[in-house]
Amino acid sequence: MNIIPMPVKIIEKSGFYKLHKTISVKRNEKTENIIEIFGKELNKITDLKLETTEKDFDLQLIFDEDILQLEGYQLLVNNNGIRISSGKTAGLFYGLITLLQLIVKNEIPFCEIEDAPRFEWRGMHFDVSRHFFSILFIKKFINLLALQKLNKFHWHLTDDNGWRIEIKKYPQLTEICAWRKNLEHLPWNERQESKKKGNGSYGGFYTQAEIKEVIEYATERHIEIVPEIEMPGHSSEIFAAFPQLSCQGRKTKVASGGYWPNTDIFCAGNDDTFIFLEDVLSEIVDLFPSKYIHIGGDEANKTNWKKCVQCQQRIVDENLKDENELQSYFIKRISSFLLEKGKIPIGWDEIIEGGLAKDIVVMCWRGDGKDALESAISTENKTILCPNSILYFDWKQNEDSQGAFGVTTLKQVYDYEPIHAGISLNDADLILGVQANVWTEWMPTSKDVEFMAFPRMSALAEVAWCEKNKKDWEEFQARLQQFKSILDKYNVNYYNK
Ligand SMILES: [Zn+2]
Repeated sequence: MNIIPMPVKIIEKSGFYKLHKTISVKRNEKTENIIEIFGKELNKITDLKLETTEKDFDLQLIFDEDILQLEGYQLLVNNNGIRISSGKTAGLFYGLITLLQLIVKNEIPFCEIEDAPRFEWRGMHFDVSRHFFSILFIKKFINLLALQKLNKFHWHLTDDNGWRIEIKKYPQLTEICAWRKNLEHLPWNERQESKKKGNGSYGGFYTQAEIKEVIEYATERHIEIVPEIEMPGHSSEIFAAFPQLSCQGRKTKVASGGYWPNTDIFCAGNDDTFIFLEDVLSEIVDLFPSKYIHIGGDEANKTNWKKCVQCQQRIVDENLKDENELQSYFIKRISSFLLEKGKIPIGWDEIIEGGLAKDIVVMCWRGDGKDALESAISTENKTILCPNSILYFDWKQNEDSQGAFGVTTLKQVYDYEPIHAGISLNDADLILGVQANVWTEWMPTSKDVEFMAFPRMSALAEVAWCEKNKKDWEEFQARLQQFKSILDKYNVNYYNK
């Protein structure tokens, strides 16, 4: 059966349940939201219309408390119709997603399916700083995640190339820090910092009202949006408006392209830095219902910390060994602020260096992720795996295709096993799941993003959902052919070789 990701157990029977122009669903207040979404997607994929009714229905959704897995469901198709059961709404939603993929030519094969995901974190990251993307496209992207049962959208909202979220207390962040000189006609790493006064013309940001709209859209599709606010590095865009928060007080311009090494970072010795960040994070905490907030922590160049009187004083006052421990102090201080607000901080794996706060989740990205995973496990921190050599979708899909850095093919993504040999069962419990990342330096348009993210996202979905022994590369490729025909209905510009 052509379903992505592949369900845990399928028993195929002979025969088909046939539909004529409509599919009628038993009315139920508790499932109205997901039925409505099912109806919308059905219209995009088939000619069928959805109706709700009290009797003589084709489809019914049943809450069944005996189905214990949080996102698990059962799907039964026979002469009597289609029945989806789950203990939770999320499970019923995933049953409907499976059903969408089964409806081909208005007939559904008789079958019994039992299904539940392998990992609780099935994530997709998206960088809107290097290039800015419309709310319309963000929603399209999120919907495509839902169609593959991915459940976390990691929204990379701030970086050197532009601040993308309205913060009421600091309007300069979107008046100044969201705009850069438009050098889109030049290759990313050949763009020079602008010397001209005034704001640039490339950029944009999301208002808090727009963010709420996207959160609602994602929540209906059982996707949690995890916002990321970068610190202490990848923050130079902020100093275009708030130079006093960096060590040297240098007023930067928002970078139009490659900014490396990123030496303009937050001053860790200045208490105003923490006041500013806590103000920003307070608004983020109020806006996003997610229990997680990502605080970056990667690639902070410590050159200026070494030269800064205030940073060096902090090292003395806090009895720290070096600048790595100063970064650790920074991350711990922000983490405790978030924990007090009831949120769980997440950071890129550099946060391990210099010591790690207990309750922070580590996102392992460097290399194949194994070293970071083992370090995090040794301190019993929870982890999410997104190794750049496999799950960075800005990498090329083959030697000749567009992209940057190295190559990570569809097959490499598909074959990825997060729990490598040597990880004990107990330690494996610390792995929340997997995620792929879309960095957009080389993706100026949404069509570029689609080209890079699909169909590798389908391979990721299978890594995140299916048990190791259920994966089969040959058979996946066959199923992917049908899924591509669904992507066609959504006008997705996927890589197709
Ligand atoms: Zn400093």
